[in-house]
Amino acid sequence: MEDKVIVDGLTFVPYIRREEIQKEVKRIAAELRKDLEGKKPLFLCVLNGAFIFAADLFRETGINDASISFVRYSSYEGMTSTGCVKQLIGLNENIDGRDVVIIEDIVDTGLTASQMVNDLKRYNPNSIRFVTLLHKPESSKTGFKPDYVAFNIPAKFIIGYGLDLDGKVRNLKDIYVVKE
Ligand code: IMP
Repeated sequence: MEDKVIVDGLTFVPYIRREEIQKEVKRIAAELRKDLEGKKPLFLCVLNGAFIFAADLFRETGINDASISFVRYSSYEGMTSTGCVKQLIGLNENIDGRDVVIIEDIVDTGLTASQMVNDLKRYNPNSIRFVTLLHKPESSKTGFKPDYVAFNIPAKFIIGYGLDLDGKVRNLKDIYVVKE
């Protein structure tokens, strides 16, 4: 783990180590395995930020009958939420009657998450579960509560393990927080 990362003039310091992340991935995977027993779930990875978490979680869950697909929303520019959530794209599957598991990187205001759940409900799935790597409860504008959360964190800007700053540093294996 690097002791600091500098991106666009901002300094980030270590926050969550890869070992802790993998421990939570295993915990959530075990819960999903139990909760989805006998089902053929469809995982929906929300691009771009969730792709690394989704890859780890999907493998760890170890459900051979599960499928995975990739969707996208975009509501963020730089370090502040624009507050305007765009359209869901990339949903090619018929989710009627399916057990859907959404995989997100982070729930901040909750606008993206609540809109996504509402959008998907219109296609009549059997169930929707929402998994997020990170949740910032203090930033919530919607009261949205994810079903599975790896880490609850304060309202600070985070990078690494899939999360970016203007497209950069998604590659970092650990999670870093902006230094104040
Ligand atoms: P929300 O709609 O405000 O909940 O925003 C969710 C999206 O904002 C996430 O999928 C991220 O793309 C982005 N986001 C929110 N907080 C952070 C952060 O701390 N680091 C990187 N991206 C973030």
